[in-house]
Amino acid sequence: MENKNSEPIYPVIIIGAGLRGLRAASLLHSQGITCKILEARDRIGGRVLSTAVAGEPELGQYDLGPTWYWPQYERVIASLVKELGLQTFSQYTEGAMLSERSRNEPPQRYILAEGAVEPSMRLVGGVKSLIDTVAGTFPSGTIELNTRVAKLQLDREGDDVHVVAELADGTKKSMQARAVIMALPPRIAARRITFSPALTPSLMSSLINTPTWMAGQAKIIAVYDSPFWRKDGLSGLATSWVGPLQEIHDASPVEGGGALFGFFGMNAMKRRELGEEQVLELVREQLTRLFGPKAGAAKAVFYKDWTSDAETAVEDDFTALSGFPDYGPLNVEGEWAKKIVFTGTETSLEHGGHLEGALRSAEHAALEVIKLI
Ligand SMILES: Cc1cc2nc3c(=O)[nH]c(=O)nc-3n(C[C@H](O)[C@H](O)[C@H](O)COP(=O)(O)OP(=O)(O)OC[C@H]3O[C@@H](n4cnc5c(N)ncnc54)[C@H](O)[C@@H]3O)c2cc1C
Repeated sequence: MENKNSEPIYPVIIIGAGLRGLRAASLLHSQGITCKILEARDRIGGRVLSTAVAGEPELGQYDLGPTWYWPQYERVIASLVKELGLQTFSQYTEGAMLSERSRNEPPQRYILAEGAVEPSMRLVGGVKSLIDTVAGTFPSGTIELNTRVAKLQLDREGDDVHVVAELADGTKKSMQARAVIMALPPRIAARRITFSPALTPSLMSSLINTPTWMAGQAKIIAVYDSPFWRKDGLSGLATSWVGPLQEIHDASPVEGGGALFGFFGMNAMKRRELGEEQVLELVREQLTRLFGPKAGAAKAVFYKDWTSDAETAVEDDFTALSGFPDYGPLNVEGEWAKKIVFTGTETSLEHGGHLEGALRSAEHAALEVIKLI
């Protein structure tokens, strides 16, 4: 259907094709409700980013975004993974962990007590397998990639929302919807989208004060032919006060190569100041100190600094978080109350920040938007 300006009209437009946007579309589709997902990037998944070594797909998929879920607490993702028939495996934790306390002493080995590490699960084929399978539950034409929403405008009667997006070639495209699900990080919505009429100051400040989980982090993955550290009785788990990596884990796929991944203790500003080449060299030195010379000779290294990704992070995210944020619903007030629903892992009271939170908030958003159309 089109309006008098030849803009296509949809019952629901979803902004963002991350896990929550895709899941919300899947739930709406199962209720017979047509929707359109507008996605700024040239790919789906958002913070979910699985990648393979170029020309060597047999080495497996490696997650530069989320890796784990915890089925003992996270019932929504656990049951969805089961329902979709995805294959899973346990995070490898057998053997000793390493602890690097200072540059002047060699790393110490520790055998952790049973139960000291919370058991987590991984997905065969990376978290991408969840994204692709959820996206396969509704018609592929539902998603428009390279479509960055720049403006939302209420029509004069307040019945519909005009959505203006910028395409990759710089042209603009307008569409109309009865209601919109905001499935992008709250800070991105506040900083990158213009609302007409403006959102209330209290909602704007709530959006800006809701940190995007892990947006200030970077992740590095070093890929090898095999997980050689296991033969030395090491689990691949290491912690370090020296850095630049603070926490290292085994990231080997169930079949294929071996891999280690690390989260940085070094903050975003320092990483920027040093530049990628120097950061990678410091990581190579650290992996060698911890796991020996083989670790310094990775066959491939993937590095993703999420602070450099404009679809995930804004400047507010460069400052490291001092604790786990208090996530919860973002209540829309005023004229927008009947037209937009803010969803996302950052709006979930339980498991906010995690994939579980994204799925829970998608369920909530689908129910809420049905009341508005
Ligand atoms: C390094 C890292 C490690 C993590 N580890 C874990 C883990 O092990 N376990 C776990 O449970 N969680 C983990 N997380 C968190 C997990 O990734 C998120 O909870 C989840 O992916 C959030 O999904 P989402 O759909 O809510 O948001 P997003 O994935 O951020 O999706 C938002 C989408 O909106 C799009 N978008 C943005 N702006 C616009 C615009 N203007 N117009 C159109 N589209 C737009 C984006 O491109 C994106 O696709 C990790 C995250 C990171 C970065």
